[in-house]
Amino acid sequence: MAQNGNMKTKVIIGLAISTLFFTACGEEPKTSNSTLPSKPKEAYRITPPSFNADSAYQFIADQVAFGPRVPNTEAHIKTAEYITEKLRSFDANVVVQTGVVPAFDGTKLNIQNIIGSYNLENYNRVLLMAHWDSRPFADNGTERKNEPIDGANDGGSGVGVLLEIARQFQQKSPNVGVDIVLFDAEDYGQPTGTPNPKPATWCLGSQYWAKTPHLPNYTANYGILLDMVGAANAVFTQESISLYYAPQIVDKVWNVAAQLGYTNYFPFMKTAHVGEDDHLYVNRIAKIPSIDIIQYDANTGSFAPHWHTHNDNMDVIDKNTLKAVGQVVLATVYNEK
Ligand SMILES: [Zn+2]
Repeated sequence: MAQNGNMKTKVIIGLAISTLFFTACGEEPKTSNSTLPSKPKEAYRITPPSFNADSAYQFIADQVAFGPRVPNTEAHIKTAEYITEKLRSFDANVVVQTGVVPAFDGTKLNIQNIIGSYNLENYNRVLLMAHWDSRPFADNGTERKNEPIDGANDGGSGVGVLLEIARQFQQKSPNVGVDIVLFDAEDYGQPTGTPNPKPATWCLGSQYWAKTPHLPNYTANYGILLDMVGAANAVFTQESISLYYAPQIVDKVWNVAAQLGYTNYFPFMKTAHVGEDDHLYVNRIAKIPSIDIIQYDANTGSFAPHWHTHNDNMDVIDKNTLKAVGQVVLATVYNEK
């Protein structure tokens, strides 16, 4: 995940985005915290299978075991091979999109966006996303700040949940087409504290994909991005970019969560801008209405304390949270016609 939630950076970016929205649409995104009633139950078209949190947990542990997934490293290449092989083993149609993008410091990053597709012939499609790279520095921490982090939660968890969802698709095909898109180089943005920060130094893989999708004219009905979805007692509030571009999808997903009894993880609470993430570019450039399921603490106005520190390791991963997120996403997909 990109910028901190409680920093000056955030405020500046938030203001910039608000201004942009004013200019473009004459309408300000809602940023106040509030609660909404849940909607009546919808009948499932296919009974969703049971998401296996043990399996998702193992997929996260496997990624972390390669070492930090920083572009231009051996661990990064090995992890890409692992993810690709896993998706193929779950009968996905896999495309690896490679590219070279400049980082904030001029480094040329060799990136790989990894796409696993199901039911390719179906025009009715859902896009599921996460980023698979990990932060090259621990710049929000107090020790070894120049060393890359494990990124078990920030990066690893979203991929772990989506690999388990792919395993479920192999066993029981959903009615719709699904594309699992795993972006590279989300977390290679400028270090915290850089003067005049540039938000576009983050989310490099998703910017690349949104400008040049893996298939010409690719689109989907909507998208769901998972970022930092594995920590104990996580709370996923409804963040402002999702609410601005895809309020109907926020509504859909949070209502599924309520039906499944996961309102403690998915409260009907709107939060102010928590930072930019891959879904911004999928919305803005690829024009696919997309939401972000991201852990954010509205009380402290920031991400979890382990965010961009060496504490973001397997110790923070909790199977109950993986189960809640995985089951909500699975149920949402299997409920589609
Ligand atoms: Zn991050």
